[in-house]
Amino acid sequence: MKNNDNLAIKPSQNLHVGTALKIFEITIAAIQDPQESGTSVYYGLKHALNVVCDPDVFSKTTRKGILYALSHFAYNEHVLREDSLYSAEDGSPSRFHPSTPEHFLWYAEDFLEFSDLHQLVVSKSCRAYINEVSEKSSEKYESEDDYWEHEYYDYLRYENRRLRIAIDQIRKENKIQLEEISDLYLRSNSERVFNDRELCSWISSLIIEIGFPGETRKWIDRPKSWPTWLKRTLDLREKGKCANCGVDYFSDISITTHIDHIVPLSKGGCNDLVNLQILCETCNTKKGAYLWKVKSSIPKYISERLK
Ligand SMILES: [Zn+2]
Repeated sequence: MKNNDNLAIKPSQNLHVGTALKIFEITIAAIQDPQESGTSVYYGLKHALNVVCDPDVFSKTTRKGILYALSHFAYNEHVLREDSLYSAEDGSPSRFHPSTPEHFLWYAEDFLEFSDLHQLVVSKSCRAYINEVSEKSSEKYESEDDYWEHEYYDYLRYENRRLRIAIDQIRKENKIQLEEISDLYLRSNSERVFNDRELCSWISSLIIEIGFPGETRKWIDRPKSWPTWLKRTLDLREKGKCANCGVDYFSDISITTHIDHIVPLSKGGCNDLVNLQILCETCNTKKGAYLWKVKSSIPKYISERLK
């Protein structure tokens, strides 16, 4: 007899691009806003470090490191956190959640698409209701009526609470699946952040205040050797060039390279991937235990366009 297990529908392994980008946006906004990094990120990340970080930092890739914990925080804020309850410990609504009724409708539409991509359970009535609000609001938005604006915003304000409850219902009914697919988003976000060396440096400094979970020594003692995967992961980001002077060590194999702690161990830096870069021997010797401003790893043609 044939094994029919293979025919079972499996949750999609694709990312919902809108959600993935939003998580990235939340990560960047949160850690660079002193108000956030001083409060909600501080506690959110501290909690996530304890929950998802592996104290044996050298046995895993970005899957269980600091960036993974940071992504866990952002995923919780954007995807899992229930709105109608305002479940934050201090009772305040998340600043990262869509706050205006209009933004929340866009969020709900996006969430429905995300749910379908991952084959989450959405009750007929819930789906019909979200679609109805979506359609009616578009009608009001496109209306030629002089008072369209008034009617549009009034309508969204009126439906806001029910809409939040509807989304919370989807979250509740799919709690387990939402946690199962989280790994996809956590890894994707970790990789995005990792590729931005300046952002990594920023996080490394922030993490000193937050502290490390579990067996702290492994995070802060100089390791005897580095695992191969770690060196390879850094090589990929640096594209074979010294992170400081840019000398190409892929083409010139006579150049010796070192794995450098962006924030030196003596200044509280840690061994996690977020705090590491590759320097040529000359730069590494000059740097020693100093704290240098990190150079961007974003190619010039991109960073210039962003300005
Ligand atoms: Zn160099």
